[in-house]
Amino acid sequence: MIQQTLVLIKPDGVQRGLVGRIIQRFEDVGLKMVGMKMVWVDTEKSKTHYSDHVTKTFYKSLEEFITCGPVVALVIEGVQAVEVVRKIVGPTEPRTAPPGTIRGDFAHMGASFSNKRGIAVKNLIHASGTAEEAEKEINIWFDRIEMHSYNVVYQIHSMG
Ligand code: ATP
Ligand code: MG
Repeated sequence: MIQQTLVLIKPDGVQRGLVGRIIQRFEDVGLKMVGMKMVWVDTEKSKTHYSDHVTKTFYKSLEEFITCGPVVALVIEGVQAVEVVRKIVGPTEPRTAPPGTIRGDFAHMGASFSNKRGIAVKNLIHASGTAEEAEKEINIWFDRIEMHSYNVVYQIHSMG
């Protein structure tokens, strides 16, 4: 089942110069980027994207974090891409995210540390959690004209 999913490299990933290394992880497994752009999120877009979280205690800090610099937005396509991308990204908290995942390899701080300081969990990346979430989020972030259909040729295990 071929799916598309939304990934954001958050401001900490951009500011730390990790964009290339993060994208490499998805390319390495043969996933295909079909949309890519840099966006400086405003508070309105933050509320739209994180509509499920606006009432949560950590929302203010999350909004401050996601609007503090540009993000790189990607639409990634592949077989069961929603689940596979979340596996590569790892669990929310870098403290407990296993080695080998993006959050486990490039960050380490836990939620309790962030909560005490009133800052968001800086975990480098967002990835849609479900197919429904992916469809909703891709619509928020990308126009059809910004997404591309093409064949990849560089890896034996890639999709056509
Ligand atoms: P994302 O939606 O960004 O991919 P996620 O699905 O793993 O992450 P969510 O529960 O959707 O986690 O939370 C969204 C984001 O809010 C997290 O990525 C993190 O930056 C921040 N966040 C989540 N829980 C907390 C918390 N307890 N304290 C502070 N920030 C948090
Ligand atoms: Mg989420």
